[in-house]
Amino acid sequence: MFHSLAGRSVIVTGSSKGIGRGIALRFAQAGCRVLVVSRKLAEAQAVAAEITTAGGDSRAVAADITQQADSEAMAQAAIASFGRIDILCANAGIFPAARLGAMTAADFDSVISTNLRGTFLCMSACLADMKARRSGRIILTSSITGPVTGYPGWAHYGASKAGQLGLMRTAAIELAPYGITVNAVLPGNIATEGLAGLGEDYLRSMESSVPMRRLGSVTDVANAALFFASDEAAYITGQSLVIDGGQILPESLAALQDL
Ligand code: NAP
Repeated sequence: MFHSLAGRSVIVTGSSKGIGRGIALRFAQAGCRVLVVSRKLAEAQAVAAEITTAGGDSRAVAADITQQADSEAMAQAAIASFGRIDILCANAGIFPAARLGAMTAADFDSVISTNLRGTFLCMSACLADMKARRSGRIILTSSITGPVTGYPGWAHYGASKAGQLGLMRTAAIELAPYGITVNAVLPGNIATEGLAGLGEDYLRSMESSVPMRRLGSVTDVANAALFFASDEAAYITGQSLVIDGGQILPESLAALQDL
């Protein structure tokens, strides 16, 4: 399955580490040409080198997705390197915590600016090329937090991730006539560098709240993104897929006992 992806050009934002890196490596493994994007060039280059060493085709570019000029330069870099943009994985995101009352307007703006406005900027930057070719795949990395669940400290984050789905639904309608689909992956708790930063207590409590009793892997999320990017998913748009080991399912703590 997914042989259709060989040779496709893909931009993955936030792919110097974590879920984005997992998506970049998985798409490269499927034969895609991958533009690795993050603010830190050396870290993006390391992932691109990992792909080329394994026999793949990859370039790296530094871009801050909160900056319109950077997002446009990123799209141009993909066109210059690979001739076109077939797939955008808008994955870059941040998740600092602050409880309401302590959360400042600047905290709120920063999260919305990266996670929601940045998604809009990256998507917008890729549209001219995709529309001209009447073909494209846009895959957003949202989250269970916001669209499905809540967690103390992440009111701004949850709003940004739910907002991505609002953006996705109208984008999916507007872009359908151009053969462009827009879908979202909603990870639960995935073992990444960013998640590790939340501390061992958080990680252990999350593990115990997942029926599968483990955190997700970046490949678990990448496989879902790969499906949305494939020709096999051509008739699916405006949809979201939860990848969480069953985390959102239990009605109460009792539902997890004796498993
Ligand atoms: P991570 O390990 O912290 O990696 C984040 C990536 O985004 C890095 O490559 C970082 O590189 C890049 N980035 C951050 N701000 C950026 C900006 N302004 N411009 C360009 N790149 C930027 O995070 P992660 O855990 O993999 O999360 C990735 C995505 O998945 C996020 O959207 C997050 O909300 C979502 N998610 C994660 C989980 C989870 O459990 N890990 C769960 C649900 C959703 P630089 O710092 O070099 O820019």
